[in-house]
Amino acid sequence: MEATAMKVVLLAGGVGGSRLADGMARLLGSDLTVVVNTGDDFDHYGLRICPDLDTVLYTLSGLGDPERGWGLAGETYNCLEALERLGEEPWFLLGDGDLATHLWRRQALDRGLRLTQVTDHLRRRLGVTCRVLPMADEPVATRVRTDEGWLSFQDYFVRHKHQPAVRELAFQGSPGLSPELEQALTEAELTVLAPSNPFVSLLPILRVSGLAERLPRPRLAVSPIVAGRALKGPAAAMLASLGFPVSAAGAALALEGHLDELICDEQDRALELPCPARFLPTVMRNPEDRLELARRILEGWPESPG
Ligand code: GDP
Ligand code: CA
Repeated sequence: MEATAMKVVLLAGGVGGSRLADGMARLLGSDLTVVVNTGDDFDHYGLRICPDLDTVLYTLSGLGDPERGWGLAGETYNCLEALERLGEEPWFLLGDGDLATHLWRRQALDRGLRLTQVTDHLRRRLGVTCRVLPMADEPVATRVRTDEGWLSFQDYFVRHKHQPAVRELAFQGSPGLSPELEQALTEAELTVLAPSNPFVSLLPILRVSGLAERLPRPRLAVSPIVAGRALKGPAAAMLASLGFPVSAAGAALALEGHLDELICDEQDRALELPCPARFLPTVMRNPEDRLELARRILEGWPESPG
């Protein structure tokens, strides 16, 4: 780990967010706090599933599946196959190792621990050195309105394979700041918005009561849209169906009021952007790319962009 003396909060969803978190964690160690979206969380077979938190924990611990970007490497599916024998139609992939996380979390929540405490235990057990905080302790549920009506997030994302056009978003729950998150925001000197889906990963975090106003400045956002496309998932399709330009500029507009500088991919140099911008190689194909992007984001601060 290289020595820096800067405390940073990184707002993150799953795959894109965890990749940048990994690069930044190697530079900052415990000076990094990753604040993770929990709007995708849901109950399944009585368990509490937190997809983005687990993606971040698995990626940061080195236990994650590098190909998929989520789930555990070398996962087996014996439990899921046994459920199928019982007549279940498994629409949500649950690996055997991953199930252990959900079982442990269920038990800890039932004992009265807050999600922040549960996550901190998992983090330490998995050997993750930076701080990982859920955006809130209270449950929040992202819902999307499609032409087929309102769907819960996982119904839309997994069961419908994010194919229906999203016309509107809603968030159930009125989460507030946990004491741990409030402290992290007070101590940090820089905010980074990871290359995550603006609508279903970053906006749910930004609507936690008291969070947006307390974000340390400057707030840098890394565009999840590169050359007019999402590298994964429905971010580009959502920009289009919600009436935004399908580009890094659209991503910036979706986050309007929440960022001071946009970090765009070098391929987007010709774009006209609604805010100050820097251009860097932002596609993280391997751990070296993650580290390099993290280093360049942090070394560019606090110089003025351009
Ligand atoms: P999810 O929670 O796993 O769906 O993922 P995120 O909320 O992190 O969002 C996925 C977004 O991350 C997509 O829009 C991708 O384009 C973006 N993304 C994933 N990997 C990268 C990367 O290496 N670089 C950039 N710039 N964006 C990425
Ligand atoms: Ca997610």
